[in-house]
Amino acid sequence: MDGRKHRWFILGASVIPLIAVLGAMALLWNKVFSWSDVVVLVIMYAISGFGISTGYHRMLTHRSFETYKPIRVALATAGVMAGQGPPLIWAAHHRKHHRVADKEGDPHSPHLDFEPGFKGTMAGLWHAHLGWLFNINLTSDPMRYCPDLVREKPLRWLSENLLLVVAASVVLPGLIAFGITGGSVQAGLTGMLWGGLVRIFLINHMTYAVNSIGHVFGRRRFETTDESRNVAWLSIPSFGEAWHNNHHAFPRSARHGMKWYEIDLSAILIWSLEKTHLAWKVVRIDPERMTMREANISRVSGSSLDKKELLESQQKLAPMAERGRDSDTSLVDVE
Ligand SMILES: [Zn+2]
Ligand SMILES: [Zn+2]
Repeated sequence: MDGRKHRWFILGASVIPLIAVLGAMALLWNKVFSWSDVVVLVIMYAISGFGISTGYHRMLTHRSFETYKPIRVALATAGVMAGQGPPLIWAAHHRKHHRVADKEGDPHSPHLDFEPGFKGTMAGLWHAHLGWLFNINLTSDPMRYCPDLVREKPLRWLSENLLLVVAASVVLPGLIAFGITGGSVQAGLTGMLWGGLVRIFLINHMTYAVNSIGHVFGRRRFETTDESRNVAWLSIPSFGEAWHNNHHAFPRSARHGMKWYEIDLSAILIWSLEKTHLAWKVVRIDPERMTMREANISRVSGSSLDKKELLESQQKLAPMAERGRDSDTSLVDVE
């Protein structure tokens, strides 16, 4: 898929579902919305949500865990179903984002070249949310950013046959609805609408919200070189992706929710795969290192630490920073 086709695809994936939502609302107005629509919406949202979060993001882009090939292909296929473009382009853009987050070259920073104030903030949010996808000059060459993924034949096939898989993901909920209602054609059609198009709309805006809202609003636990934030209210519908400051601090970690109360559905899936011996090499962060990194933020922002404590904490942090260079904050880590 070349740059031109990719832009048309993204435009289609953003606008057609929007029209579908309006159509769905009209249907809802006439009370044509049944339990089978809810079932297929939830099933398909979960499949494509895990596909993006666990598949595209943690497995392909950050190599947070390894798994058997059929599961790898299944997760990547589920990601394609979300309608966010080919896995190779998605991963290339995202690795580029981590390399230069909120700096020149970041494909979707809400902080670059926008005037201060409300208008600039809104323009930045729009650019980070969806606007960046229409930038004709935007390219992230997969050969440069993810040559490891380009070498995988199934990923190349999925990237080339994207439309086929996305179309199948719209037909599939129709077939499920047709089946579970004992052959209702109307349920089949509304199933395609809710489980197909409306679901693509919802999952896409949820992912894009991590890029936009997750770099503007929310809490920062870790001092990072970017503006990433943890957005608690987005954590469940985004499958844990909204713990975005945690993620920028430790990009390769399989868990983005770092505290017990930070719900992370993708981390639960990876944990389940590991427990059933279907995943291995799951990347974990040493809790002590996490605590030290967290302490660093209070040191930088001028907390109650006195000079002696400051020196001690710097001495403790030094070897960790050294280790971090190979595992968490370097380019090696991102890729
Ligand atoms: Zn980010
Ligand atoms: Zn990432």
